[in-house]
Amino acid sequence: MYSKLKALAKQILPKPFLEKNEFFLRKVISLKYRGTQHQCNICSIKLKRFVDLDGKDLLCPNCGSRSRTRRLYKQLTKHNVLNGNVLHFSPPKILYKQFKQLKMNYYSSDYENEFTADYNFNITSIPKNENFFNTIICYHILEHIENDKEAMSELYRVLQPGGTCFIQTPFTDGETKEDPSITSPKDRKKHFGQEDHVRIYALPELISRLRAAGFKTEIKSYTNDMYNGMNTETIILAKKINL
Ligand SMILES: [Zn+2]
Repeated sequence: MYSKLKALAKQILPKPFLEKNEFFLRKVISLKYRGTQHQCNICSIKLKRFVDLDGKDLLCPNCGSRSRTRRLYKQLTKHNVLNGNVLHFSPPKILYKQFKQLKMNYYSSDYENEFTADYNFNITSIPKNENFFNTIICYHILEHIENDKEAMSELYRVLQPGGTCFIQTPFTDGETKEDPSITSPKDRKKHFGQEDHVRIYALPELISRLRAAGFKTEIKSYTNDMYNGMNTETIILAKKINL
């Protein structure tokens, strides 16, 4: 139902109108989903169910958040890290909207201009002094970056001692797959899971690269949370220890 309505809206409404009124249109659609069995922890709406995206993800019909976005939000608020200078790469629209309203210096960045953001920092050369950011959110970014080691060093450089960088990427079992000679979108999708991915990490390899960049790492693995519509997933907390 949700996908059909979304497709219909895309067909009959102009894109600028859709973008401007996205949150209002979502509110209308979400009336069909209202209930008491579930709740979105970002927009607080109570639902009879989340929108099931072909068994791969659970979408909040009201704010458009995905499973991983809701869990990220929960962790960020739980760890009380949304203060000072916060750098967020390619933010989901609902978090961009929420975080802009908080009392912190929020630096949203998207290099390819695909996401709503205020800056377009190059992650391998972030134009800020060392130790500038209290918190960095780097979700589903590193698998797009050819020189990921440089990106990790740069994240480490701009993070302040005591700060945390929240990291997530897709993972594969076995070895990390990367091959600079694979450059076509079709081949990248085949080997790395998406047209614009340049690798898929094995978790131990990503941890080892982050440690090589100086980070102390903590792996957080979560099981399903049915009430808030959160799937099983793994997050890495990469910390710069006090020097
Ligand atoms: Zn929501």
